[in-house]
Amino acid sequence: LAPEYYLPLRLLGTQFHAGMAGKAAAADIFRLLRLSGSQAAGGSAPLPRQQQIALAFRDVYAEYQPGGRQALRGISFSLDAGQHLAIVGPSGAGKSTVAALLLNFITPAAGDIVVNGKLLQGLSSDDWLRQVAFVPQRPHLFQGSVADNIRLAQPDAALAEIIRAAKAAGAHDFIERLPAGYDTLIGEGGQGLSGGECQRLAIARALLQDAPLVILDEAARGLDVHSQAVLDKALARLLAGRTAIIIAHRLSTVRQADKVIVLADGQISETGTHAELLARPGLYWQLVGASKGGYDV
Ligand code: ADP
Ligand code: MG
Repeated sequence: LAPEYYLPLRLLGTQFHAGMAGKAAAADIFRLLRLSGSQAAGGSAPLPRQQQIALAFRDVYAEYQPGGRQALRGISFSLDAGQHLAIVGPSGAGKSTVAALLLNFITPAAGDIVVNGKLLQGLSSDDWLRQVAFVPQRPHLFQGSVADNIRLAQPDAALAEIIRAAKAAGAHDFIERLPAGYDTLIGEGGQGLSGGECQRLAIARALLQDAPLVILDEAARGLDVHSQAVLDKALARLLAGRTAIIIAHRLSTVRQADKVIVLADGQISETGTHAELLARPGLYWQLVGASKGGYDV
């Protein structure tokens, strides 16, 4: 992801350093996080909380600068409530841009994104973003306690709820081994934790958020095999019963998706199920062949 993508979150990290602490700070950060990057995008139509989410992209174009290079060109797909979509394709193909659109970091240059029959741009950004749990490759962890980092999306969560989420995310055991358990202070960016540990904290955070739409963007990339296995279980719990977009993931995860889209140079090159795509010698077939041990597609 390009730096701009994370900028609002970085700014929030800075504000956290500026002397805020504890629950109130977490609440503020969460509110700011929800507002960041969204003022231009959001409408005012309320969206009921925790409703299941069906999604459609209709001929969507995206660009990061007005009139600039188009990162996506004419993307269409639909996803029923509870379905899982995997998006794969070469680096720079536009996969993360699908996430950027859904997170209101950018708005479509043309075309519509439809959420439960309503235009995304017309929805209150606050309401909408509460319903999206985003797990990127390098989740944003801020300087603060482990508990506060998990609590980010649910500032008034009780410790018991945090522990329940951490257990489901396979994070409880390593947290208990930290010097002060859930009160252990971690550094900006998760300093002092391994990549797999950071990922499990991000999944605990997402589980606690209990959002009906989950977006994973290369969330399992670069982890060792043991971390992958632990993460797979945690991800299965996070994805169960929720609508999900899974970007560039392990083949084992992609294979289970209801639909797979292969992106190349901003356009859909192929689409189908894993089995359908493997049955023809296209880009998916090449990518799967190139992934050798079957880890990342
Ligand atoms: P992928 O996730 O498939 O690797 P991206 O969606 O990140 O691809 O990028 C698609 C295109 O958009 C690329 O050409 C990339 O350089 C460009 N792009 C991505 N993020 C930004 C950004 N924040 N600003 C400008 N261009 C960007
Ligand atoms: Mg990407």
